[in-house]
Amino acid sequence: MKKIKVFFTGGTIAMRIDADGLLKPAVSGDELLAQMPQLQHAICVESSQFSNVSSSQMSGALCMELRSQIIQTLARADIFGIVIVHGTDTMEESAFLLDAALTSAQLAGKTVVMTGAMHSAEHVNGDGLSNLADALAVASCDDAAGRGVLVAMAGQIHAARWVRKMDSVRVDTFASPNDAQTIQGTIARDGDGFKVAFTTVAARSMPAISLADSAVALDRVDIISMHSGADGALLNASVDLGAKAVVINAVGAGNVNEALFCAIQEVLSKQIPVMISTRCITGGSLPAYGYVGGGQQLQKIGACFAADLPAHKARLYAQLALAGGYKTPHDFVSLFEQLDSQ
Ligand code: ASP
Repeated sequence: MKKIKVFFTGGTIAMRIDADGLLKPAVSGDELLAQMPQLQHAICVESSQFSNVSSSQMSGALCMELRSQIIQTLARADIFGIVIVHGTDTMEESAFLLDAALTSAQLAGKTVVMTGAMHSAEHVNGDGLSNLADALAVASCDDAAGRGVLVAMAGQIHAARWVRKMDSVRVDTFASPNDAQTIQGTIARDGDGFKVAFTTVAARSMPAISLADSAVALDRVDIISMHSGADGALLNASVDLGAKAVVINAVGAGNVNEALFCAIQEVLSKQIPVMISTRCITGGSLPAYGYVGGGQQLQKIGACFAADLPAHKARLYAQLALAGGYKTPHDFVSLFEQLDSQ
């Protein structure tokens, strides 16, 4: 029987309404698993309560601690795959950080699948147990190997690079709104079991950054938003606070106004990398315009384009890059260029 290790971190899946009417983390992972007795016939589950928090409390440091435990678990010969139960609000960030921080050697040909729920444990339309069952089915599926970290929710399988939480309330909140609109596959009920069907070839969606197996500290990297009327004050403050790199959540194809452009130029002159992502959902960022603040000018002064990564994922990739020895704007340009070719 295949053995799957499940790390519970919290999220709505483990929440209950307390005596004051407040929805809070309260249900343990083992309590959730106890509600799925039919599982015991198909899969051997080993559980670990890593935390029990809303995913808004997740941090890079916590996630890197989880990564260390995952690496130790993946190295065990008796473990076939891993499921991580996580709140949906920041699931795409944790999935991405883990995916980009686990090399194929560290994954050891095994699969890491994240899941959660939009409705709480006792909600009449609770989706947690069904999502957990889906994730276990994917983690124990032979075809899942070689794909890095996946998200399994509401019958769909998504790659960490592209998955986005699209809706604040719907159970089918996750989508992969990359240009090809590719989900990786589906999970359907098949009698008492599950049919996992992958629709893409088995490949990693992100080039992973090679880091030590043990705890890795992440530097400060901030996200600064471009919007009409923006200026450089927050960017300057970020650098004063010690940011080692900055992501600009630019507009359109990757453009800013003149005030922000001047501040970016100043930051780059201090050899601090600046990444340009876009607040548009699809299309990514690219050097398209030559006016002051346009992407072509940003490229000329040494900013790098985050390809299809939204600002919050570009920020995580930058943190891993810094930890992996990429330090200068030029280092970042070469690293991020690899994303475009994928
Ligand atoms: N606020 C919750 C969390 O992210 C939402 C969820 O789990 O769906 O922890």
